[in-house]
Amino acid sequence: MSSYVSIKGLTRVFDVSKPWLNRVLERRGKALLTAVSDVSFEIEERTTYALVGESGSGKSTIGRMVVGLLRPTGGAIEVQGVNIATEADSGRVADVRSNIQMIFQDPYASLNPRWRVRDIIVEPVAFRGGDTEGLAERLLQQVGLHPADAGKFPHEFSGGQRQRICIARALASRPRLIVCDEPTSALDVSVQAQVLNLMSDLKDELGLTYLLITHDLTVVRHMADRIGVLYLGRLVEEADPAALFEAPKHPYTRMLLDAAPRMDAFGREVDPPKGEIPDPINPPSGCAFHPRCPLATDICRSERPKTRRIDGTVVACHLAE
Ligand code: SF4
Repeated sequence: MSSYVSIKGLTRVFDVSKPWLNRVLERRGKALLTAVSDVSFEIEERTTYALVGESGSGKSTIGRMVVGLLRPTGGAIEVQGVNIATEADSGRVADVRSNIQMIFQDPYASLNPRWRVRDIIVEPVAFRGGDTEGLAERLLQQVGLHPADAGKFPHEFSGGQRQRICIARALASRPRLIVCDEPTSALDVSVQAQVLNLMSDLKDELGLTYLLITHDLTVVRHMADRIGVLYLGRLVEEADPAALFEAPKHPYTRMLLDAAPRMDAFGREVDPPKGEIPDPINPPSGCAFHPRCPLATDICRSERPKTRRIDGTVVACHLAE
């Protein structure tokens, strides 16, 4: 297997300053928010890489940079060996980008309500002047809907069916990489499993590679081949699912696991994650997790932990063994 995506030192800083006049009157400097800081990971071809973290962890920002909706402030995004963040040859970048699609969180907001499903699905192909004859009908069948649904409007479908339409649209241009941003979090629990199973089947059938973005560890357990845990824009742990679920090395991963519902623990008291994500404009010193960490010591407050590899797991914690 080879790396299809290679993210190196990816960083994204947002300028969230007030307007210049307000800053002068209030004698304030610029306010910069580092949403993603020095994140590196690789995605092997035909595998699923899951990025997990609470809201504000930077996972969606990474997804948006990979599909080209946002430009990185620093670092590299190599897809098929081309750094799409800095490559000067726009033709090469367009070629690589044509192999990347995105599925968004909200299937209600991401489909144009005035368009028929056929037009929604074939639009990315029609835009490039490709052949759309019978395409929508074939794709609808592939995602478990009826070809006749092509003539309907989005409001005639349930949430799960709409997400199937979004998947069909993403597949229309025959992508090799799909970035899935919380693809099931707007759906009922009973429908979530159906959509995830469909995504798994399509991955095997079409040889797809997924970057799956989610706050929900239960979603990734059976689907991911590799999991990266983000906290305040930094990757704090990266491991295979078995290692991450059986022996998490970072206290934040442990906290997320304690908060995740489990099928085998019906009736168990679930501890919600303790504390809140700190203000990313003024992140804590040292390890950004220290205000919430039950194991924090003096060194955690003063020194940022370096990323280390321990038995196949990558972890950024002073105390990880
Ligand atoms: Fe907790 Fe310290 Fe490890 Fe950070 S470095 S996770 S504060 S033990």
